[in-house]
Amino acid sequence: MGIKDFAYIRCSTTKQVKDGNTIEVQLKGIQDYITKNNIEIPHGNWYIDGAQSAKNLNRREFKKLENIVKNGDAERIFIYKRDRLIRDVQDLYTIQNNFVVDKRVKVISVKDGEIAWHNANEEFMQVVYSAKDKLEITQASERTLDNLYMSALKGNYTIASIPIGARRCKRGDAKKAIEFPDENVKDIVFVFDYIADVKCSLQERVDYLNSIQHMAIKWTTHNLTRMITNPIYSGDFVTKRYKIENHTPGVITKEKQNRAIKNLYYKGQRNTYQYVFKDIIHCDTCDTILDQQSTKKRKRNGKGKIYLYYYCPACGYRVSESTVLSELEGRLDRRFMLQEHGKFLKEAVERKTRIKRLINFYNQMYVSGKLEFELAVGEIEKLKQDYKELKIWTDKYYKDNDVIVFSRMSYRAKRIYLESHVKYIKYNAKNLKFDIIYK
Ligand SMILES: [Zn+2]
Repeated sequence: MGIKDFAYIRCSTTKQVKDGNTIEVQLKGIQDYITKNNIEIPHGNWYIDGAQSAKNLNRREFKKLENIVKNGDAERIFIYKRDRLIRDVQDLYTIQNNFVVDKRVKVISVKDGEIAWHNANEEFMQVVYSAKDKLEITQASERTLDNLYMSALKGNYTIASIPIGARRCKRGDAKKAIEFPDENVKDIVFVFDYIADVKCSLQERVDYLNSIQHMAIKWTTHNLTRMITNPIYSGDFVTKRYKIENHTPGVITKEKQNRAIKNLYYKGQRNTYQYVFKDIIHCDTCDTILDQQSTKKRKRNGKGKIYLYYYCPACGYRVSESTVLSELEGRLDRRFMLQEHGKFLKEAVERKTRIKRLINFYNQMYVSGKLEFELAVGEIEKLKQDYKELKIWTDKYYKDNDVIVFSRMSYRAKRIYLESHVKYIKYNAKNLKFDIIYK
């Protein structure tokens, strides 16, 4: 019984299955050999590494075997072919020193005989064999790479999925070649334009493309990112192993693709620092332009909220962006309307502001104990009802008269509107009063 006899098998991926070095072939080879030589290897002494590449070796089972050798529990190791154990000359010396010399272990290859040497001549021969194996591995992998490269030059892509907007074509001997049909080019350019020029979050982009059913595919953050970053759209073919520049004419320029990639990960900074009234608000007291200031308050959920302020460096007060916006609510809209219409609306908006202040007043009265709860609530409820009716009226008015409401404009539109219509806004800090001076 060969308690100290072991067998080691290594099988790589598909490539070696093609070579004929499958696990079964190696098993049978070793089995035949040991039967013929009257050797028995216990069931637990077979070590098999499956699906391992010769180049990038992570031989888990072999490492276990190595430990057994280190502990002196092995006498013989049987392998099918020497290249199953030794990839290069360095491996050869490791085996010779650590196995053969140190631990007196015999390494026997079914096909090549014993791997060891006792004199310089034998050492030379072993080195030559190992060098030859190494050469074959390298050549095989270079051949694969060359084949892939040559094939890609013809337009044959070894990629699993066809890029969005492309299709397989039959161009000469390039059966797997892809091309961008003329009717898709416009749609592809649209996506890149949209990503390169519009600033919003990735999810918003996906939602938008899906909402217009662009190119009739289901857009996801994954396929959109893959499309934008795939160099094939600007003409280069790139894989992990090689790059072919200007492989195809390309649907878009490299410049546009780079811009799109840069913009793709735009995180929406714009939303956090939007001073709508920057350089427009003046201090009524000292007539200087108010400066900008921001504070960040950390909320319980860990996210910070940014508060924007305008402050007067001379007088020392500050007023928040939201206050300015609510105080000016409705007042900036009128510029879009006929004057006689604006009069009614102005009154309505002023009443809305008054009601808001009254609600606030009753709230404070109740909180400070100056007003009974029922009384305060009754008044507040009445006021809220008035406010609601007014709001319905103004909303209908905006809608019927096609009024563009300032507070509902985008940041950009607000800025454009202010810069073209408003000379400046005077702010009186004592009375919390805003005066709009139009151009
Ligand atoms: Zn001032």
